[in-house]
Amino acid sequence: MSTSFEIEAHCGAARAGRMTTLHGVVETPVFMPVGTLASIKGVSQDILEELGVQILLGNTYHLYLRPGVEQVRQLGGLHRFMAWPRAILTDSGGFQVFSLNELRRVTEEGVTFRSHLDGSSHFFSPESAMQAQIGLGADIMMAFDECTEHPADRERTRQSMELTLRWAQRSRRYFEQHKHEVPWATDYVGTTNQLGPDVPVWAGERALAGGVEGKTAELRSAGQVRTPAPTYSGAAQALFGIVQGGMDPALRKESAERTSEIGFPGYAVGGLSVGEPRSLTREIVEATLQHLPVDKPRYLMGVGTPEEIVAYASLGVDMMDCVLPTRAARHGLLFTSEGKISIKQARFAGDHGPLDANCGCRVCRRYSRAYLRHLYACNEVLAQVLNTVHNLSFYLDTMRAVRHSIALGNKAQFPSGEQTRAKP
Ligand SMILES: [Zn+2]
Repeated sequence: MSTSFEIEAHCGAARAGRMTTLHGVVETPVFMPVGTLASIKGVSQDILEELGVQILLGNTYHLYLRPGVEQVRQLGGLHRFMAWPRAILTDSGGFQVFSLNELRRVTEEGVTFRSHLDGSSHFFSPESAMQAQIGLGADIMMAFDECTEHPADRERTRQSMELTLRWAQRSRRYFEQHKHEVPWATDYVGTTNQLGPDVPVWAGERALAGGVEGKTAELRSAGQVRTPAPTYSGAAQALFGIVQGGMDPALRKESAERTSEIGFPGYAVGGLSVGEPRSLTREIVEATLQHLPVDKPRYLMGVGTPEEIVAYASLGVDMMDCVLPTRAARHGLLFTSEGKISIKQARFAGDHGPLDANCGCRVCRRYSRAYLRHLYACNEVLAQVLNTVHNLSFYLDTMRAVRHSIALGNKAQFPSGEQTRAKP
């Protein structure tokens, strides 16, 4: 069993779908919160479940440096390590290598780079990036690519695109030969027992065990039955390809077609949001999507604001991720149905209203703007927690509303970008 994808409804170019992974169903279009170091900063896993997060992201580069892939593998993989029973996607590490390392050296073989932590030297190749992601054991992993810098001339962009295509082939070859090494393949239930009854029954465990076995698995995960864990023969991760081609629509088309020829169960659009104007991002996304297989999930990496995720979903993007809601929250920037606000402003000091009267999240139901402003002004840890919970909730609600509108076939009902325009 690997990841499967079904489209349930269309509305214009937009699609509502269901991706079924070993760790549960992901309804698309979906916004995926970023949990760089196996943690969504400030928010515990039980709250993420309550918010309805169905899939989150881990960063291979960061996890490779700390705590190390072998460590995570020995602890049963990322799901068990971070006690997250739902789906996970890991990136290939390529983007961080390119964005955090001025001193990297790229060859045909791979990339030599220095750790941003201690300056030590490391090497990623398509093979080692696949090995790392198999060890982490996310449901969806990404091919190793070169994120082309911006601006770049046509010759340089083509060269970089060709390198990414060769690396995609090597990524796929290594993955096919080694996918059975994923940590869920053995002893999946044992550690669940050790974690105790607060950890929900693993969705994949239920799906795979089924029937009487399923009941046994449930009891087992509640610590009531202790029997040897089953092995999941044939269970595998899904490896997605990445389209590059810079800001050149013709190269994007070629990259999309040739990446599709290699054959992946899903495709990402990479190399965007690298400093280009937003109108160009949109143009390139449109130019790329039309050349990708219609029946496979499409993932736009690293976007965006609430209005952007709505716009991209309407173009037919199924998956998106961005650090914006979580990072902005830690800086006191909150997205609301009436626009973006900075909670640090003095005008909120006496404001006893909720952060967003139209938001039903646990923060808006309980706390006043005055209190949130006070927490932020005093640099209380709770400010980061509550702000992040609200912003994530706002993003997830926005995506749910988009999905609902697609299901109804009503594009006019897409949440308006207006709502997220900054207040004067
Ligand atoms: Zn809220």
